[in-house]
Formats: sequence, C-alpha cells, structure tokens
Amino acid sequence: MPGFEVFGDEERSQVNDVLENGVLMRYGFDGMRNGHWKALEFEKAFAARMEAKHCQLVSSGTAALTVALAAAGVGAGDEVIMPVFTFVASFESILMLGAIPVLVDIDASLGLDPKAVEASITPKTKCIMPVHMCGSMADLNALAEICNTHNLLLIEDACQAIGGTFNGKPLGSIGDLGCFSFDFVKTITCGEGGGIITNNDTYKINTDQFQDHGHDHVGNNRGAETHPALGYNFRISELHAAVGIAQLEKFDAILAKQKQYYNILAEELAKIPEVTFRKVPEGGVQNHSFVNFFLPTQEIAKRVHTALGGAGVEACFYWFDNNWHYIHGWEHLRNLQSFQNLSSEIKTQMQDLNNSNFSKSDAWMGRTISSLVKIGMSEDEVEKRAKLIAQTIKEQL
Ligand SMILES: *Cc1c(COP(=O)(O)O)cnc(C)c1O
Repeated sequence: MPGFEVFGDEERSQVNDVLENGVLMRYGFDGMRNGHWKALEFEKAFAARMEAKHCQLVSSGTAALTVALAAAGVGAGDEVIMPVFTFVASFESILMLGAIPVLVDIDASLGLDPKAVEASITPKTKCIMPVHMCGSMADLNALAEICNTHNLLLIEDACQAIGGTFNGKPLGSIGDLGCFSFDFVKTITCGEGGGIITNNDTYKINTDQFQDHGHDHVGNNRGAETHPALGYNFRISELHAAVGIAQLEKFDAILAKQKQYYNILAEELAKIPEVTFRKVPEGGVQNHSFVNFFLPTQEIAKRVHTALGGAGVEACFYWFDNNWHYIHGWEHLRNLQSFQNLSSEIKTQMQDLNNSNFSKSDAWMGRTISSLVKIGMSEDEVEKRAKLIAQTIKEQL
C-alpha cells in the first residue's frame, strides 16, 4: 500500500520548488511564491481525479474527519454511527466535536452491517460514517438508502481505500463528504496530510473556513479577512502538499501494481478450500491494498497469524487482537479515559461499551487475517510471499 515505497526525484523536486521560494504556508505571500500554490494545485488535481466538485486539504486524515463533521453541522450531543472495526481516528474526530460515537457491528464485508445500523438509529442520530477498511467497502447502496429514509448525513472514511470504486464512482465521492489520509503509510502520502471531497458548495465553504480559524479567504489581505464562524487550525503546509502532487501523479501506477500483486496473492490463497475472502458488496471494486481473508475458526486464525510471524512473513495483520483497529483494544474509549473534562453530552449519552455485545463482529474479526500488498516488492518476491503464506496456512489447518 504505502506510497513511500515509490518516493523519488519527483517528490524531491516538488519540495525544492517550495524551499526555493521559502513560502511554506498555503495562504498569502503572493509576491514571493513565483506562482507556486501547491495546496491549491493538489486540491484541484485531487478533486478531478476523485470526480468531485471540491477538495479541501487539511493536516491529517483525522483532521479531515473532524472538519468534515463540523462543516456538515455535527456537534455536541449528535450521534454518529461508526463501525467497531476501524482506526481510532473515527471516534477521536467525533468526540473532539462533543458528538457521540455509536459503535455498531460489521458484517462479512468487514464494514458496517446495514441492519445493525438501522437498529441503532435514534432521534439524535445525525450521521452514518462507514469506514472502508483495508481497501474495500460496506454495502453503500443500503447505507445510502438508510440515510435518505432517515435524513442522515453519509460521511465516508476512505482513508484506507483510496482508488476503490462503488457503482463506478470513486470511494469518498458517494457520501455527502468523503475523507482521505495522506499520512506516511497510506497509498499516497504527503508525510502528513488529509483531504475532504464534496459536491456540496456550502460544505466546501465550511471546510475551507473551519480548517483555517474561520477565515473567509476573501480578498488578498489575510489580516483584514472576516471570520463568519468559529474555526480551528487544521491547515496543510505547502511542503506537505508538494509531496502529495508528486504522489498523485504516481497514483494510478500504484493502483495497477497493487491489483497485479493482489491477484498473485489471492490466486494462491484461493487454492486452499478452507480459506474464504472478505465479501465485496455488489457494485464495489477494491483498491487492492490488502488481501483480506477468513479462516475457518478463530483458533486457527490466531495460530496462522503466529505462524506467519514465525515464518518471517511481514505485514500480515490479525486485527482482532490489535490495539488500534478493533474495539477490544480500546480500553481508553470504553472507560472514557481522557486528559480533559469531556462534554456532559458525551458523559451521559455514550453507550456502555464494556457491556455491549459485538459477538457478530467478533465472529468475523476473530477469523480475519489481512496481508498488506507491498508495491515495493518485485513480482518474484510477491510470488514467494504468496507461496509462503499459503504453505503456512496449510500447516496450521
Ligand atoms: C489513517 C487513517 C485515518 C487517519 O489518518 P491520519 O492522517 O493518520 O490522521 C483515519 N481513518 C482510517 C481508516 C485510517 O486508516
């Protein structure tokens, strides 16, 4: 997956443009910058590639989620439905705004189970936030329909599935807003960075203002600008955006290589009758950043994962026991351990996560292993990796 595997002269040259002008900030200093507006350039190119009307860059994927939620009006006491299998950024961004994360089961897609989503809707629900984990998506037709019926926002976390599509549309462009991360381990990277796409003009204005202290960005005198609403600083720097421009040019080549390597790995695993694959909902095309598969039981999956480590196979993940991606690892969330005083809404409305039943998700996650698709490998190395993973699985069955 990671774009850092193809880091090269193109990124260096982009960054040097910025260093030579010395304007590291995306706003102002028009005279000094010799026509270089890296963040703006990346936003235009990214919106076009993602078939969206607007893009707003920010400082991280977590910031993208936070800004997207705020821009769409999600705030204190509003409930946001999110999956139990995700990255901690999902609930971090929701809690940051005083809103309430409502954790909901996943299904065989490893994304939100639409039936569980529907059962979790209350009068306070404002938004459904599917997370396209490990390169693929939940059933977005079903989720969009639920949003229409109940008048809810759909905000896609496409941080791990950039380049995947659903019904022919890029992931992230289907919901009201879509969020991406350009952190160092993502498919394309800025070092640190994030992006929000939307077709909604008001949301674009709101994201633009919220991520820069409320600045209206009218005119060319930054100090004289007005601030229609409260904001924050989630800006990306020109240095980071410059790296992103070079990475975006490599994006389609990265996706093609991922698909090629994915197929080598998946074809080898498909020869083992006990191995089944994560369900990709009808209409969906993965970005092929991970091969995600199920073993017959949790016990076997655990054993296989340990054996893969022993066999020296890197970057195979057993999320069930992982500190960052599954509810079991989130003691801090379950117990609301926080440095600061949390809003009264959070304290009174949060579901009791220590006593919630996610056995349906456990049944999927307990059997899931994901192999990263590393684009820095040669075809030969990927073939060897595929054989070694398959061999290790067979030995544990
Ligand atoms: C990486 C990631 C994020 C957060 O991105 P950062 O840029 O690291 O803040 C959010 N959601 C998912 C699913 C991610 O994988």
